[in-house]
Amino acid sequence: MNETTPSRLYLSPPHMSGREQDYLQEAFATNWIAPLGPHVDRFERELAGYVGIGGAAAVSSGTAAIHLALRLLGTTRGDTVLCSSFTFIASANPIVYEGAEPVFIDSEPQSWNMCPDALERALSDAEREGRLPKAVIVVNLYGQSARMDRIIPLCERYGVPVIEDAAESLGSTYQGQASGTFGTFGIYSFNGNKIITTSGGGMLVGQDEQALEQARFLATQARDAAPHYQHSQVGYNYRMSNLLAGVGRAQLAVLDERVAARRAVFERYVRLLAGLPGISFMPELPDSRSNRWLTVIRLNPAESGGVTAADVLSALSDANIEARPVWKPLHLQPVFAGTAYYPHAAGRSFCEELFADGLCLPSGSAMSETEQERVAAVIRAVFARAAQTV
Ligand SMILES: *Cc1c(COP(=O)(O)O)cnc(C)c1O
Repeated sequence: MNETTPSRLYLSPPHMSGREQDYLQEAFATNWIAPLGPHVDRFERELAGYVGIGGAAAVSSGTAAIHLALRLLGTTRGDTVLCSSFTFIASANPIVYEGAEPVFIDSEPQSWNMCPDALERALSDAEREGRLPKAVIVVNLYGQSARMDRIIPLCERYGVPVIEDAAESLGSTYQGQASGTFGTFGIYSFNGNKIITTSGGGMLVGQDEQALEQARFLATQARDAAPHYQHSQVGYNYRMSNLLAGVGRAQLAVLDERVAARRAVFERYVRLLAGLPGISFMPELPDSRSNRWLTVIRLNPAESGGVTAADVLSALSDANIEARPVWKPLHLQPVFAGTAYYPHAAGRSFCEELFADGLCLPSGSAMSETEQERVAAVIRAVFARAAQTV
């Protein structure tokens, strides 16, 4: 890097509100550093209130929340769990922690999330084989909700509980209802790159307060009510610290502003990239409102003069701008080789199409218009070069 290299633009950096330090100060002043404490209780209540659900349990990560949800549903060795294929690996790893087997489900074009038709085929096959899955993990990617009006009734028909992985969709709604509140359990992540962050953390939500109490118990090493240390089950060290919950409360207070900012970033990209051939944007389902956590584009080389997602990625990288390919589908991951997979339609795997031509653009809520223009200028230059060489 030399003096003329412009500063690095990140994909989705943390965006503090300024109030975090007040909450931290309060925790320090009362020496309530760890493990639990008043900020944890309040963060749980405030988040449950925000999304309009019975209760919440604050944990150390979104992955831990998924793991606890699977445990609460009794997932064990020999079970299968259906899961979206187009997602981050954290959605599926906890299935393997419990010795169960994932079965991956493709996406569909309207939402890019779990295809209800493929899900129906998987459930019907499983019923025929007398081996219904223990759960269905439905992921809401990049802020967009899956088609809950079809997925939830389908799972109810087969009596299979839903775990909603809303790690990326906190603040989004589907038919007026908060994303993450459609299943038996929902989970959120406060990892550093998410729409709000505690530097690292997660939340398990649901209507069943008794189940959430059991989650808190499992998350604190499953310690029995005895004067000495006694344990009748294997638990985890998964609880959130009081310090981080304080940061979370300050972040939650500005969540609506963060959603508005990310949506504005999306709208600006649509404007700045208008007219470039072969670029399309992630759709938004009618009757839903995505938090637009990341702006995701697709590049169709047949229309773009040969410009591919990889070309744009490498030009942005040369300009010190962080972009990322979309998630590589889990059924293509080496660690899940040989796992069962239900595509969108016979001979058509939609998430593989997305993986071939999708690209995530820098989308931080603190990004300035000038910074966004810098991204657009680099992309426009790639198209201009391609046009010259045709
Ligand atoms: C970030 C993320 C997770 C995991 O959350 P962590 O807090 O990082 O453990 C799970 N699923 C999806 C879709 C995510 O994006």
